[in-house]
Amino acid sequence: MLKIVGISFFLGLMYLLFVFNREDNEREYSLQLEHEQLVVCYESNTDQRRPLYATGTLSETTTDESSTTQRNHQQQRQHVQQQQLLFEGTEPMIYFVTPTYPRREQIAEITRLGQTLMHVPRLHWIVADDTSSCSATLNSHIRKFGIPYTQLASPMPEMYRGRKNAPRGVANRRAALHWIRQNGIKTGVLYFGDDDNTFDLKLFSEIRYTKKVSMFPVGLIGEYGISSPIVLNGRVEGFFDSWPAKRKWPVDMAGFAVSLEYMALSPNATMPFKAGYEEDEFLKSIGLKLEDIEPKARNCTEILVWHTQTKGSKSPTVRISIDREKLNKLNLGALFSRLESMGVNHISESEGTTAQAIVNGSVKPLTFWFS
Ligand code: UDP
Ligand code: MN
Repeated sequence: MLKIVGISFFLGLMYLLFVFNREDNEREYSLQLEHEQLVVCYESNTDQRRPLYATGTLSETTTDESSTTQRNHQQQRQHVQQQQLLFEGTEPMIYFVTPTYPRREQIAEITRLGQTLMHVPRLHWIVADDTSSCSATLNSHIRKFGIPYTQLASPMPEMYRGRKNAPRGVANRRAALHWIRQNGIKTGVLYFGDDDNTFDLKLFSEIRYTKKVSMFPVGLIGEYGISSPIVLNGRVEGFFDSWPAKRKWPVDMAGFAVSLEYMALSPNATMPFKAGYEEDEFLKSIGLKLEDIEPKARNCTEILVWHTQTKGSKSPTVRISIDREKLNKLNLGALFSRLESMGVNHISESEGTTAQAIVNGSVKPLTFWFS
């Protein structure tokens, strides 16, 4: 009798442990946490870049040698037509997901990335901001590229913020996954491209026709300076990454692309709030198998994406004591308003580095023009 009670107690305990663990897992893996927020801030589905390519301005940059001019014009027209077809075409869309967050380098990063993406036809840019409200400043910089885009706001849950090893860019990537699912998008290809990375334009033609999952090297990662699949006879057989950490898929976020048709087969696909294991767990959640991986970038011999990192630094305080009205008469008024809206610096009347003007090689107070 005692034995039976003992066994059932043991089984009960195991069950409780199981349930407890499962709940814990579910909390970590559920598609959308209870208090996870997702706001669709701004969207554009029209490609407004075409005029940039369709204008005749390109032909003016060709040689002005008269005998070749006509041929060049014809070539240019053909090129423009090809570009138009490409932009209007039916080839698979690339859903380029960029988690981003407000800090003083944000607009600089978005400008650099946006100008790369301007060259990529059939691309929808999902910019997922790690904030609870929509940033109009961010939007004004995204929309000017003319790229079809969606700007989301989805903040990192409070419980993770401030942690030493916080899962960076996870809430916002999850929001993007949620948006894709909500919109029933089951064609095209998904790629996670951080706002500070560097992308070779060739990457986009490589990943566009991904069947299930494609993989390729990422430069500037870890102690090897590279993270890459290991390819033998045209097949991925293993991985080369200086941080194994018991990961089944030891790859960087920028080192793979996923077909949305393939991802749609895994309705529970998600990314956990688990720093260092986001890629691994995401790829597990889509049921990836080694034989499903297509090596790209010439069998993983080329580097088409770099894990560049921007050095951050504190936003300086600039001491300006002349009144705003005067400052606004100079360009400096508008300039500082803009910089402050981006968090690049801020003005104080009593603290910080004193602002001075340089006129004819000598330092003057800003009041110089008003005295
Ligand atoms: N990120 C974010 N919230 C944060 C920190 C980072 O959304 O609090 C984004 C960031 O903009 C980038 C990605 O998450 O696109 C990865 O972050 P980061 O570049 O800082 O990480 P690292 O590349 O150094 O691992
Ligand atoms: Mn980064």
